[in-house]
Amino acid sequence: MSSTMILPPATLGMLGGGQLGRFFVTAAHEMGYQVWVLDPDKNSPAAQIAERHFCVSYDDYAALDEFANGCAAITTEFENVPAATLDYLAKFVPVRPSAAAVAVCQNRIAEKSFLRDNGLPHGPFAAINCEDDIRNADLALFPAILKVARFGYDGKGQVTVNNREEALLAFGQFKGEHCVLEQRLTLDYEVSVVLARDERGQVQCFPTGENQHTKGILDVSIVPARTTGCVRGEAEEVAARIAEKLGYIGTMGVEFFICRGQLIVNEMAPRPHNSGHYTIDACVTNQFEQQVRALCGLPLGEARAHSASVMVNLLGDLWYDGETYREPDWTTLYAIPNLKLHLYGKHHARPGRKMGHFTVIGDNAEAVQKTALAARAAIGIKDE
Ligand code: ADP
Ligand code: MG
Repeated sequence: MSSTMILPPATLGMLGGGQLGRFFVTAAHEMGYQVWVLDPDKNSPAAQIAERHFCVSYDDYAALDEFANGCAAITTEFENVPAATLDYLAKFVPVRPSAAAVAVCQNRIAEKSFLRDNGLPHGPFAAINCEDDIRNADLALFPAILKVARFGYDGKGQVTVNNREEALLAFGQFKGEHCVLEQRLTLDYEVSVVLARDERGQVQCFPTGENQHTKGILDVSIVPARTTGCVRGEAEEVAARIAEKLGYIGTMGVEFFICRGQLIVNEMAPRPHNSGHYTIDACVTNQFEQQVRALCGLPLGEARAHSASVMVNLLGDLWYDGETYREPDWTTLYAIPNLKLHLYGKHHARPGRKMGHFTVIGDNAEAVQKTALAARAAIGIKDE
């Protein structure tokens, strides 16, 4: 761990080139840094605006050598970058967060075991490495959700299973991938905390947001969460404890369930989080600037929200009018003066793909919610 600050115009490395990486590039540019992006996708949204694009796979070690050589420090926006890649790069330059912290968050078995071993609140689960693990699983886990341990996102790699037979069938369909079997909980609602932690162990938590999902994908985030100050405070405390136990340096997101008033950690993301997009328009410092600051050893900025906000995700479904593919009518949204529209520059919209988001900000939380929900309906997002 170094105590020297990395100052502009240094070049920063970003592993992964999606929208989270793109916002990082924007934040870094505003601060005077340059950014190189490594991502195998030639249409990477982050690479479009970066100084250089390494369009290679994460295990192209010759490319990794050149990447590390030109970067003063490296971070990631994608939890599935192989931990081995992070470890390799860390031999040459600071890599934050560390491979060890990312490894815990990228595998649901490691993640749940970490929560259990550290006395942090989590739901009932069993690690499923083979069929016998399902035969031996506690019946009280059913009805349950079987989730692949790795590479799941936006509700993908998950199946609801009502009993052992269904779990065995689902496990077979995952072709022997290691899984977790989680009790299916009745959720009062969901919240998340995005925070940043620096190399000195200082933590800045952004205000707890309330998240509504549709078909397993984040749909709406309301900040502050419409809950008691007690729940908000507890969520921030638990999230900070997780970051500390992981020795985490950077921006991370922690998702929670509230079940019968109790806070339960759902999962952690070792990167900025979709539910933290509101910080771009509603906070003194946004989650991506914090990522730059933590990466470079700068002091963290203030995380305080100066406005109430509601963020709405814009998925690829919006680009389809029946069979017809067309750009949504953004003029509807531009007409609302306290609404900020962000589009990610993705080349093609697919149903369920995150294409952009908007955030409505204001002093009055109820008015902000009303405006955001009306805008969501006006642009054509249907309630399920
Ligand atoms: P992803 O990596 O796709 O975000 P999550 O585990 O967060 O996966 O699941 C996505 C959503 O599915 C959650 O935000 C929640 O709405 C629902 N969900 C997941 N696990 C459970 C559970 N054990 N009980 C009830 N709902 C769940
Ligand atoms: Mg999730």
